[in-house]
Amino acid sequence: MAKSARLGTRAVWAGEEEYLMQGATQVPVVHSVSFGYRDMDEWLQVALGKKNGHIYSRNTNPTVSVFEEKVRDLESAEAATSASTGMGIISSTLFALLSPGDRIVSVKDTYGGTNVIFTEFLPRFKIEVTLCDTTDHSQIESEVAKGCKVLYLESPTNPTIKIIDLERLAKAAHTVGAMVIVDNTFATPINQTPLELDADLVLHSATKFLGGHADALGGVICGRKDLIGQVYHYREINGATLHPMAAYLLLRGMKTLHLRIRQQNKSALRIARFLENHPAIERVFYPGLKSHEGYEIACRQMRGFGGVLSFMLKENSFEAVRRFLPRLRYCHPAANLGSVETIVGPPATTSHVECTAKERAAMGIPESLVRYSTGIEDTSDLIADIDQALKPFA
Ligand SMILES: *Cc1c(COP(=O)(O)O)cnc(C)c1O
Repeated sequence: MAKSARLGTRAVWAGEEEYLMQGATQVPVVHSVSFGYRDMDEWLQVALGKKNGHIYSRNTNPTVSVFEEKVRDLESAEAATSASTGMGIISSTLFALLSPGDRIVSVKDTYGGTNVIFTEFLPRFKIEVTLCDTTDHSQIESEVAKGCKVLYLESPTNPTIKIIDLERLAKAAHTVGAMVIVDNTFATPINQTPLELDADLVLHSATKFLGGHADALGGVICGRKDLIGQVYHYREINGATLHPMAAYLLLRGMKTLHLRIRQQNKSALRIARFLENHPAIERVFYPGLKSHEGYEIACRQMRGFGGVLSFMLKENSFEAVRRFLPRLRYCHPAANLGSVETIVGPPATTSHVECTAKERAAMGIPESLVRYSTGIEDTSDLIADIDQALKPFA
């Protein structure tokens, strides 16, 4: 891509400037498991990595490579590799980079699955995990200063949309020689590019905003070539490979990433402002509101505040959510986010389903919290829909 090309142009063209097959303008879905070579010397060169090409689709595949290239370009990274799901890339990364005796520092509000790796799996391999209060920057700095191999961050977080100062914490990590990994799923590269804020690796559940249509699972990570090489090697051998058909669907979704995110940023901000003044609403969590504790950091490190917000009904019970959700017309009540359709869900059935009500309360997650992932519908229709659904609560 030309250096001057902006994000919307990159989302369309990155990885797709050359035709892979007989002038087909769309990236072909290459279902072939293996790739044949009648020339033994060429086969050997490709197998040894001395020449570009593909050998076996668990390792690399032409359709999957285009997907990786598009994300690499949008994140302004040196290299990228992918996996079958977001969790596939997260676990491949952690197990590729950490060894027994290492220490990792992270926060309490990471994605639920990531949190299970931290609390259940890493300790079994004698990897020490320290989870800090998500927005307590001084606590994170002092834990990092004690020494660690990895600082793992996520911003914005799920489900109360907390914001972490990535540049500040990257500085703390680099002082002790630790590497910084950021889960950028909620922001997308349209709103935030963590490598430009000094992170070493940035990863995504491509299942969410990157694909954007809730019809394909995938994960991807970008960063320095040597680190990506280590993650690629782990994933190649352990086998959580992205399927070429999923790569194709993700690629098709990504062409409209810039347009979708622009609309979702706009709608989420307007909905957050509307809810902030609504008599049935106790509290709104959205980093684009001046009342949000991470507002200033978000203004510094993000180009847009994202499509996900959450809010708490004044009537603070799961019973209230049970009555409210079915009243909404333009949304899927489901455990997903980042799609073209609006998706809503309470933490009790989605991100924090494993916790008891008491545990959720201790984590600052109210029982009447609703996570709202704004789709690309017309903003005024979404606001009118929420307004009518809230009528019995006002
Ligand atoms: C969904 C999600 C994941 C996990 O991705 P899958 O594709 O479902 O495996 C990781 N991180 C965040 C922030 C997510 O929202």
